[in-house]
Amino acid sequence: MGEFDLIKRYFEQPQMERDDRVHLSIGDDCALVTVPENNWVAITTDTMVEHTHFLPSISPEDLAYKAVATNLSDSAAMGAEPKWVSLALTLPKVDENWLALFSQSLLQTLKDYNVTLIGGDTTKGGLSVTITAQGLVEKGKALCRHQAKVGDLIYVSGTLGDSAAGLQQILSGKSAIGFDEEFLQQRHLRPTPRIALGKSLIGVAHAAIDLSDGLYSDLGHILKRSHCAAEIDLARLPFSSSLLNRYDRKQAEQFALSGGEDYELCFTIPPENQPLFESRLKNLDVPCTCIGRIVPAFEEKLEKEKCGQFSIRFLRDGEPIDYLANLGFDHFKE
Ligand code: ADP
Ligand code: MG
Repeated sequence: MGEFDLIKRYFEQPQMERDDRVHLSIGDDCALVTVPENNWVAITTDTMVEHTHFLPSISPEDLAYKAVATNLSDSAAMGAEPKWVSLALTLPKVDENWLALFSQSLLQTLKDYNVTLIGGDTTKGGLSVTITAQGLVEKGKALCRHQAKVGDLIYVSGTLGDSAAGLQQILSGKSAIGFDEEFLQQRHLRPTPRIALGKSLIGVAHAAIDLSDGLYSDLGHILKRSHCAAEIDLARLPFSSSLLNRYDRKQAEQFALSGGEDYELCFTIPPENQPLFESRLKNLDVPCTCIGRIVPAFEEKLEKEKCGQFSIRFLRDGEPIDYLANLGFDHFKE
């Protein structure tokens, strides 16, 4: 099968209801879309390469789902509504069975999130999937990393550490046995992009990021860009019962801080917006937990050293603790 037949058969399929803003889709040199006047386009790309970002054992359905979900998670972290994606697919060979499962899962996932596939590229080589997502956000309203302010409350959505635990199980060759193992592995394979939450943070939150590399490093990006520091109370980190059933608390904390791929949102909210935020949260099906606050950047050399390159002071039940020293700082290399 040639490249064009492949694209036509697997990716140029009737999708959901038509998006009126898409003028031209798959089939020409470029896709053409109309952007509403008072909007910005939020553009993001993520690549998944076999052996680097996923194991050869991953199913085509899970791979397609995750490639879409990780991109939409970036849209969510800006408060944008994802609208269109393009797909650059590199395949070692044309395996029609694999392609059918992959494309079905990809198109279904896009449909579930009301997003249209408008183009891409298909090449031969080691298996890799690159998706570029384009979303709309009202001009001037996007949630950026540099806008956290001293005094902001720090929140995270969902539960942390599940994905890293799920990956550990998959790597150890454990096929999902009980409910908890199944839950953790699904959290790794099928993360939920928090799109509705991201949109509801517009006009409420100052800064946001999605958690792809673990809380310690991802919150650190907000702190660096916003020139401030943070206090995080470890006792407040939200964990799933499945994680705590299978791992002790210290291990759960390590997964949350330095494990990756939870794809939850971490965001900062000024205290005066807390009531509005809590009321908006009632309409969403996603729990959010306040885990700390933004504080002024550390001045003293000693404090900087103690809290590490990402300027996070750890507390437990309100009392400062020397968490990094306990863990060994190397564990948290960028
Ligand atoms: P060009 O050579 O002009 O870049 P291509 O031959 O690569 O065009 O692609 C032909 C059309 O098919 C383009 O509209 C492109 O966006 C689309 N396309 C190619 N690969 C994919 C894919 N995997 N998924 C969706 N659309 C694709
Ligand atoms: Mg091309």
